[in-house]
Amino acid sequence: NKFVYFFGGNKTEGKNSMKELLGGKGANLAEMANLGIPVPPGFTITTEVCVQYLKDKDYPKGLLEQVDAAIVKLEEVVGKKFGDNENPLLVSVRSGARVSMPGMMDTVLNLGLNDASVLGLAKNTENPRFAYDSYRRFLTMFGDVVLGIEHDKFEHALSEKKHALGVKLDNELGVNALKELVEQFKLIIEHETGKQFPQDARTQLLMSIDAVFQSWNNQRAITYRKLNNIPMEWGTAVNVQSMVYGNMGETSGTGVAFTRDPATGHKRFYGEYLINAQGEDVVAGIRTPRPISTLKEAMPIAFKQLEEIYIKLENHFRDMQDIEFTIEQGTLYMLQTRNGKRTAAAAIKIAADMVAEGLIDKKTAILRIEPNQIDKLLHPMIDPQATLQVVATGLPASPGAAVGKVVFTAEHAEQMAESGAKVILVRTETSPEDIGGMNAAEGILTVRGGMTSHAAVVARGMGKPCVAGCGEISIDIKKGVFSAGSCSIHEGDYISIDGSTGHVIVGKVPLITPEVSGELKTVLKWADEVRTLGVRTNADTPYDASVAREFGAEGIGLCRTEHMFFGEERIPVVREMIMAETEAARRSALVKLLPMQREDFAGIFHAMEGYPVTIRLLDPPLHEFLPNHEEALEKLMELESKDAPESEINKVKKVMERIEFLKEINPMLGFRGCRLGVVYPEIYEMQVQAIIEAACELTKEGMTIVPEIMIPLISHVKELQIVKQQVVKVASAVMADKDVKINYKIGTMIELPRAALTADKIALEADFFSFGTNDLTQTTFGFSRDDAAKFLPAYIEKSILEHDPFAVLDQSGVGELIKIGIDKGRSTKSDLKIGICGEHGGEPSSVIFGHKVGLNYVSCSPFRVPVARMAAAHAAI
Ligand code: PEP
Ligand code: MG
Repeated sequence: NKFVYFFGGNKTEGKNSMKELLGGKGANLAEMANLGIPVPPGFTITTEVCVQYLKDKDYPKGLLEQVDAAIVKLEEVVGKKFGDNENPLLVSVRSGARVSMPGMMDTVLNLGLNDASVLGLAKNTENPRFAYDSYRRFLTMFGDVVLGIEHDKFEHALSEKKHALGVKLDNELGVNALKELVEQFKLIIEHETGKQFPQDARTQLLMSIDAVFQSWNNQRAITYRKLNNIPMEWGTAVNVQSMVYGNMGETSGTGVAFTRDPATGHKRFYGEYLINAQGEDVVAGIRTPRPISTLKEAMPIAFKQLEEIYIKLENHFRDMQDIEFTIEQGTLYMLQTRNGKRTAAAAIKIAADMVAEGLIDKKTAILRIEPNQIDKLLHPMIDPQATLQVVATGLPASPGAAVGKVVFTAEHAEQMAESGAKVILVRTETSPEDIGGMNAAEGILTVRGGMTSHAAVVARGMGKPCVAGCGEISIDIKKGVFSAGSCSIHEGDYISIDGSTGHVIVGKVPLITPEVSGELKTVLKWADEVRTLGVRTNADTPYDASVAREFGAEGIGLCRTEHMFFGEERIPVVREMIMAETEAARRSALVKLLPMQREDFAGIFHAMEGYPVTIRLLDPPLHEFLPNHEEALEKLMELESKDAPESEINKVKKVMERIEFLKEINPMLGFRGCRLGVVYPEIYEMQVQAIIEAACELTKEGMTIVPEIMIPLISHVKELQIVKQQVVKVASAVMADKDVKINYKIGTMIELPRAALTADKIALEADFFSFGTNDLTQTTFGFSRDDAAKFLPAYIEKSILEHDPFAVLDQSGVGELIKIGIDKGRSTKSDLKIGICGEHGGEPSSVIFGHKVGLNYVSCSPFRVPVARMAAAHAAI
């Protein structure tokens, strides 16, 4: 078995495609060597060795022999000897997983030095200062990363020495001071570990290799992998490489650079370097590096070579590269190349530019763009340079950042906004009544509620930042203050929220508003060319519908009609309908609502002309349209204290009775959805009449209208049969009356497990299905979507769940029901059109799942439409 791969000196054994075995760094070092680019020779120990070592607590047989043989080869190529006192070969040891992984072991440089070989190095380089400087650096790094001694212990000794000698910078220390430090550092090591610093080079090397492999399982690395979905079983490789020195005087240096600007994506060489320095000096920030452009003057020959190399590398890897180099006495060496990290804006520009340059094809360009990155480009974000005082963290419920004055009621939000103030609405939770205030606010912060709570759903629909379920804060509305930790924030104080991270921040933070670039439009067009999954939007207003059209939505997948019941002139009529005690009284209230609804639908049809519009009949429990009990009680007390007329007091008492009557222990499992349609058919009748009348009107004007009427919360086919009959009856009557034929469809939401399990029967009555994955998640897990935020973080912490299932579709549970629903549905109706309209419709992994299981479309809030288009393209490639 081969465990060790050599690179450099015409003896390279690996290549770029061997990343799994050699790690990213090792594979790319080999590839550079293959390309004839100067890299200091060395060898890579494979990730397989790591996996086996961590499993067996021992090395595979033959490894040490292979390492020794590689060292001999390295000695031949470099012309120095490892552990030699006269002409020592020094090496660096670095970790290198398949993807770059901060959190694992840092680098050990200058390995191979000891009390004897440091003399040899001093003699050969004719530079004793350099030799002892290298030795003390090695002791620090070996002590810190291999022996686990706090870096500060060495740093402290170093500062004391500088202080004692009255110098500021490390490079002002003379050779004697460095010699003394070396002795001190060895004592620190002995004192901290109880053992002497190992003088033997081979022992140093083996201990470092051990440390790299073990660092795969240190806490930082584990956390990083969890956060970035990197499998635990990959393991890391170890790279052992001969040293080159950037700290050998004014003709030496070291730097890092990007082949394109990683912030903007512009095609320009970008980076920095330091003269007379080693790698960690650039990172440590002790000296200020110079911009790479000035290297042209400082070292023209090396710069020209560097230019040729970076262009060669970018052309070869066909992606923006992040490179590290060292110049040793005028000779350039490349230490690393890898695909560079970049901002969302840069990712899109680079992908589009590289297609134009003929470097990559469109599909590759699409795969280079993380769908979620697009979201960032559509919303303001906090200036990354800003320092933040985060006082609490909630759920990142709707992306983007906002700054404003704290207000505690929707009414107040509207008033303040009208007078020109920017406000953040802070509520325990929001209800449909708060819509106006939410619309007026810059952003929304709630104490309770999850990723599909009212606040989250509505904020996403509006494209406004929202932090939801922030249980760390508590509001005292009466006193006009909320507390977060030891901080009290009063109404009118400025706060900032970041709906992408869930942070609540005291004061005003600077925001950056991104521009939607031409390149974004271009790559989204390419995405549309390859995807097969349709992308619709969830929208309840003509404005939202037209925003979504701009973002490329191909219709509405969910129009929640209850959102239309809250306008100032509507809520009294809606309440009149709810308060009605007879069918006749209810109908007379509904007659008043009819023209309003007709106007709503006409506006939406207009904005979506030619595209399907799925309108869901009323879904929430009726109590949501009444004031809450406390409000009504307050009103009652106010009236009584004012000695208001009996009739007015009685009116409020009646409302309170009705509130009491409608009160449910579990409203989400209660009297809602099609259950309303079954018991009060006249509500749905009015809605259907409004839909078909609006459609007839616009059709007469020559427009193409495609209405799809959707019945919510079906669990049994008979519910659908009954409601459908009413729908057909009303629609037929309206069409006959208007003498217009509308090609409308009737479908249902699948958002209860029983519906999914009996989808074959339900499909016989439905033209289409739309999975309501918010309720389906709620009812599959039995997690209340409004309360789960209290315990879900613990579930994720304890790895019971990987993600919040209300944000990322639970493919193995809820997804299984979706598959059953699709299979059963299409078993009795093969051409059944099926979509998804829960919040998962705009979440990339859920969209990709939707493509795989054969959905026709996903539907999501307007601002997520571009994300879904890109994710759907990824799924199709
Ligand atoms: C759902 O349940 O997934 C859905 C889209 O409906 P709502 O969120 O309005 O309950
Ligand atoms: Mg639902």
